[in-house]
Amino acid sequence: MLNKKSVDDINVKGKKVLVRCDFNVPLQDGKITDENRLVAALPTIKKLIADGGKIILCSHLGKPKGEPKPELSLAPVAKRLTELLGQEVKFAADPEVVGPNAKAAVEAMNDGDVILLENTRYRAEETKNGEAFSKDLASLCDVFVNDAFGTAHRAHCSNVGVTQFVDTAVVGYLMQKEIDFLGNAVNNPERPFVAILGGAKVSSKISVINNLLDKVDTLIIGGGMSYTFSKAMGGQIGNSLCEDDYLQYALDMMKKAEEKGVKLLLPVDNRIGDAFSNDCNIQVVRKGEIPDGWEGMDIGPETEKIFADAVKDAKTVVWNGPMGCFEMPNFAHGTEEVAKALAETDATTIIGGGDSAAAVNILGYGDKMTHISTGGGASLEFLEGKELPGVAAANDK
Ligand code: AMP
Repeated sequence: MLNKKSVDDINVKGKKVLVRCDFNVPLQDGKITDENRLVAALPTIKKLIADGGKIILCSHLGKPKGEPKPELSLAPVAKRLTELLGQEVKFAADPEVVGPNAKAAVEAMNDGDVILLENTRYRAEETKNGEAFSKDLASLCDVFVNDAFGTAHRAHCSNVGVTQFVDTAVVGYLMQKEIDFLGNAVNNPERPFVAILGGAKVSSKISVINNLLDKVDTLIIGGGMSYTFSKAMGGQIGNSLCEDDYLQYALDMMKKAEEKGVKLLLPVDNRIGDAFSNDCNIQVVRKGEIPDGWEGMDIGPETEKIFADAVKDAKTVVWNGPMGCFEMPNFAHGTEEVAKALAETDATTIIGGGDSAAAVNILGYGDKMTHISTGGGASLEFLEGKELPGVAAANDK
């Protein structure tokens, strides 16, 4: 079990605290269109304010590729955080992130003040975990707090490199929550433990399938990746998504499931279309009976029932990846039914970020889930059983 020091284990009174947040929010014409990530960061920031720290926030935003790009400045985030916190979050605008403005702003801070640095990816070293920028960041602070789960699977200056040059590196509340829920689900689940995987590709979830087969009682596979399994079993899949390099892998995983006594549920029927479009002709066919010129776009109605039944009596459910092309309303039904089944079960339900998190929120089931992860890639690596560099870098208890 991961046992990392958190903001509850340190005294920050009068200390300069650098907090790595995940403020990678969608922007349109300089306006934040989804502020979930800002809201999720507030508990840690408020705790540090209440404890009398001098709080220096930092984050990346988008991919400026190592140079200042005004449209990817964190200035709008400072403005919105000021409103959300009800106190000024001073924006320290330095093109080199840690420059004269940031240094002067830190020098001028009183206990309980909050400032925000510029987009860490304005610096080319950030994503290479380079020493110079790691040292620059560390030079601003006495204590480092990592609360950015979304980038925990990457080793960058602002979440890993910096910890080499500070004495104290701990996790924030958001990070702690992710570690607790995902860690518990994977390593110490209440059973029956059901995992649901979907999305486009088998290849992006190879290690997840393999690792989860060692942990779960039931593994459900839907979405685009299920057609590789269907073809491997000799089915006709028409123009459906398929990765021919993974046919043998699919068979190996089916064998592994059988050997481990894991119930592996694959679609028994599919909604198919004669073009990759919401307005195409649609029909429902049995698995492995997709005619030429048609492609699998969603799971079918019988599959929806089987998948929903499987989560009814579960005690822990983890879900990552949509059941079909849910962005097209005519092929969102399978994903909606799975979301509904999760909303209705008494099990601990954990949504592994990305598309499934978006789907659950759009459908209005967000508050019915036990935990919705803030990191798509990071939660997938967690499910793979990998050690996340951003988590590993924090001090152990
Ligand atoms: P991923 O990023 O691997 O989780 O994949 C998510 C994407 O997979 C979404 O954009 C879905 O539209 C897409 N997807 C899911 N099912 C299918 C399918 N049957 N055919 C094509 N794309 C799909």
